[in-house]
Amino acid sequence: MRTGKSAKDIIYWKIAIFNLYNSFIMKPLKILLIVVSICLVWGSCIHKTEPITGVKIYEYQGDFEALADQWADIGINTAFVSTTLAANDTFREALKKHHIPVFIIFPVFQQPEALKNDSGLFAITDKGTKARHDWVEFVCASRQSYRPDGISIDFIRQFVFWEMVYPDHKPENIDRACFCDSCLALFPRQQGITLPDTCVTTVQKAGWITAHCAVQYDTFRCGLITSLVKDLAETARKLQRGIKINVHAVPWRTDDFGGAGIRVAAQDLKAIAPYADYISPMCYSQMLKRDAGWISSVVADMDKRAPGMILPSIQVYPYYIGDAFSAEDLRECIQEALKPPSRGVVFWSWPLLQLERERIEVVDEEIQDSRSKIEDQKN
Ligand SMILES: [Zn+2]
Repeated sequence: MRTGKSAKDIIYWKIAIFNLYNSFIMKPLKILLIVVSICLVWGSCIHKTEPITGVKIYEYQGDFEALADQWADIGINTAFVSTTLAANDTFREALKKHHIPVFIIFPVFQQPEALKNDSGLFAITDKGTKARHDWVEFVCASRQSYRPDGISIDFIRQFVFWEMVYPDHKPENIDRACFCDSCLALFPRQQGITLPDTCVTTVQKAGWITAHCAVQYDTFRCGLITSLVKDLAETARKLQRGIKINVHAVPWRTDDFGGAGIRVAAQDLKAIAPYADYISPMCYSQMLKRDAGWISSVVADMDKRAPGMILPSIQVYPYYIGDAFSAEDLRECIQEALKPPSRGVVFWSWPLLQLERERIEVVDEEIQDSRSKIEDQKN
């Protein structure tokens, strides 16, 4: 880990937080450059060969020094943190001391605050409704005024609340976006398509496009996402070679829900792969009513599209639904997540993990076990 940059760091942080919370829409490039700068200062010392054993953390009220000690003890070697938490000097210093690199989680299109100020930025679903489902509120991906030119990590997809899409879900029941006026104007122009005059409402236009040019619309929607990943990655790498870029992915295999990874989320992993270092499917098995083996099947499937880049994130505690998920279930999930060709595992999230001592012990044991196996293979 680099040292001796604390004064510079503090300036970066003050500017970053000011920008992120006060002028996100107006100054996207500046914000992203600053976020990149912060990532560079913190995140550029990942060992190339060591699997990532990371943890996601969005908020924390306790003692940061004790937290970093505990992470180091159980073998957590990377932290994925919110901008709010990352702005905390004490937290940052504690992680530095323990040589734990940081990835800042940047929620690209999930922007409830921005939407509160300007609801015209909402993505629009094929039902003609605003892209809002529970706490998920998405900005449309085609607004030039909103497109940043730097790095990003999370919520880089078209709108979908995938956390409650279960295995028996019918593909046609998953809403798709975006069919807002901006997208409905841009798509025909880009693809040389003319919508018939009989299509007046959003629902009519969405229906016609889906029936007559579904493939072109997928290409258009995926292009918006891929080009943003490309722009952000290139900007980041101009600042410093070797910066790590992780793209969070909806955990859908190629054929799941009628190809919904493309058709709904618009995450074309094959197209995105050249611009990222890691692609991290959110394999939250309990909330999605999946078993542990499903995690390695997602990794294997995505690895075909993005070879050697898949870093699964797994759930550590029951969430959303009441289905059982014990510490031993978690152990099985970790083992499945670490199976080749996985690049490691990221635990979602620390506050959930620390609810039970037993689960932290399972994580500790499995990380040590996986490292011993790697050492054995070397000898
Ligand atoms: Zn749109």
